[in-house]
Amino acid sequence: MFTEDIAETLYENQLKEWDIFSKSVEQLSNIECKKFQWSNHSIIAQFNPARVVSTGAKIDAKTIAHRKCFLCDENRPKEQKGETIIPGYSLLVNPYPILKRHFTIPSIKHTPQCIYDNIGDMIEIAKLMPNYIIFYNGPQSGASAPDHLHFQAVAKGQMPFEDEIEKADRFLLSENKEGKMMFINNIGRKCIIAECKRKDMLVSFFHQIYHQLPSINKLEPQMNVFVYTKNNKLRLVVFPRKKHRPDFYGTEKDKWLISPGAIDMGGIFVLPIKDNFDTIDKETICAVFEQVSL
Ligand SMILES: [Zn+2]
Repeated sequence: MFTEDIAETLYENQLKEWDIFSKSVEQLSNIECKKFQWSNHSIIAQFNPARVVSTGAKIDAKTIAHRKCFLCDENRPKEQKGETIIPGYSLLVNPYPILKRHFTIPSIKHTPQCIYDNIGDMIEIAKLMPNYIIFYNGPQSGASAPDHLHFQAVAKGQMPFEDEIEKADRFLLSENKEGKMMFINNIGRKCIIAECKRKDMLVSFFHQIYHQLPSINKLEPQMNVFVYTKNNKLRLVVFPRKKHRPDFYGTEKDKWLISPGAIDMGGIFVLPIKDNFDTIDKETICAVFEQVSL
């Protein structure tokens, strides 16, 4: 049976055994950040040059079909070790972390990133990692491997949204004796929260949310999803999306290399380009949310 100790041991061993990983963890501890504060929420801009590959990743079908999938076992660096977390999934350290204790949790099969049938697995993982937040980037909402099912995990207490949604005004969407669903719209972007004790109920809440969201070309609705435990309950937070990247995304001089995924929606804006980090302001942050948040 998997316990968090196994994750901790894997992390410590990988720090000793894998140079690239230990260097990037060290760099992360010296990373430049700045905070922007509004009345009910804050955003931390993080200058993280190591993320340029992921933020700048082309994710069109042609590029994806022609690259070696970095989440498939046979293509992973030989130093990268994994642990089975639940049947069908491996726990790996993320060699280019954004936050402390950042893990990637790929399916052992090369199968497309898709949430509807796999939300139960995500909840199962959250139950096994009570000190972590598990998250999911939709194939058009921040995932840099949309062709390979995976979740991620980071240690709790690092993303601004975690505290902010506790204090924010919540509008009740539905309630039964098992749990409830709520809506928040005063933290600069919108999110839906569900909480209950039972996994099957949380799956049912998630499916209700899923069916309410628009889907384009029969693809899954665009979203970022967080699952974690809070006050002895299971907690689901969905940030619905309408766009993958803002229209000012790009590598040209007057553009922004910003490709929001769950962590950005959670309040940490990852900026791999120094010029973008130096010039980011509240207006730009608001414009990103206005364009990508549903
Ligand atoms: Zn793969």
